[in-house]
Amino acid sequence: MKEVFKTDVLIIGSGPAGYTAAIYAARANLKPIVVTGLEPGGQLTITTDVENYPGYENIIQGPWLMEEMKKQAEKVGTQIKNDIITEVSVKNSPFCSMGESGIKYESKSIIIATGAQARWLKIESEEKYKGYGISACATCDGFFFKEKEVAVIGGGNTAAEEALYLTNFASKVTLIHRREKLRSEKILQDRLFKNSKINILWNKKVKEFEGIDQPKQLTNLILEDTKTGETSNLNVSGTFIAIGHDPATSLFKGKLNMDDNNYIITKPDSTETSIKGVYAAGDVKDKIYRQAVTAAGMGCMAALEVEKFLSEVN
Ligand code: NDP
Repeated sequence: MKEVFKTDVLIIGSGPAGYTAAIYAARANLKPIVVTGLEPGGQLTITTDVENYPGYENIIQGPWLMEEMKKQAEKVGTQIKNDIITEVSVKNSPFCSMGESGIKYESKSIIIATGAQARWLKIESEEKYKGYGISACATCDGFFFKEKEVAVIGGGNTAAEEALYLTNFASKVTLIHRREKLRSEKILQDRLFKNSKINILWNKKVKEFEGIDQPKQLTNLILEDTKTGETSNLNVSGTFIAIGHDPATSLFKGKLNMDDNNYIITKPDSTETSIKGVYAAGDVKDKIYRQAVTAAGMGCMAALEVEKFLSEVN
């Protein structure tokens, strides 16, 4: 027989949204269960320096911050399960979620905090310099490239915004796009074209990332022209990959309202989804801000909304 865990609130995902929801729910005596998912700790566990999470004067490490959040959630009464939810039914209450472990989770409410993943180019050398010059978040890491030359890959709104943002720090920003037309909004394109620090390379893709090993640091991009196949070099200290994000929402397809990019839609000023008792917090519902601190804020909102919901149905 399958093991069954029953709880008032099941939190799916263990990034800042999930753990913050857990801390608030546990302190409200709701005895939450957090199912950590495939990447316990979420996107912060693959970053290094964090300098914009409030409360820390000195630079902290992403994985350390997530470990602290986990310990705090456990200390106040959260049960943490290293499991992956493979199936969810939100048709009837209690909701039923199946874990890869074989455990069945029955819950009166669910907080979805499964996050999103930045898309990467998937080149071997990209993996080598991730966190050592290669990043997917200018807001997080732009500050480390003061007066340095950087590149941004992509042609959408994110790439345009990241390139503009990076001009606050970098001496030069090269936007590299694989076509000769940007996908981003006209107003952002106008700003890009007007900015003297930004240079755009059209019809180019990154073939290889190169760097030094001691200390490990990206120094050069080998580019390939998508029309002629010609290769060229671009010396940069940093590269920001901005080719889109994918929210982790496949479990909920057809079950909850989502937008065209598969982000979960929540009610205005709320984390409530199209199903009562099911809430969504963090990057799984947010394609604009995508910050640890905004995700944490939404986790808090979700827990407070769950508390209110349960007091009404219990
Ligand atoms: P998009 O999907 O809009 O754009 C991705 C870009 O990356 C495209 O230009 C695409 O090229 C390029 N790309 C994709 N894969 C590769 C690859 N393997 N190699 C090289 N280039 C690649 O993603 P965004 O993150 O920019 O935006 C996602 C959504 O969020 C959009 O709806 C956007 O409007 C929205 N958004 C809104 C903001 C706002 O309102 N302020 C801010 C940021 C995002 P190609 O053009 O050739 O397909």
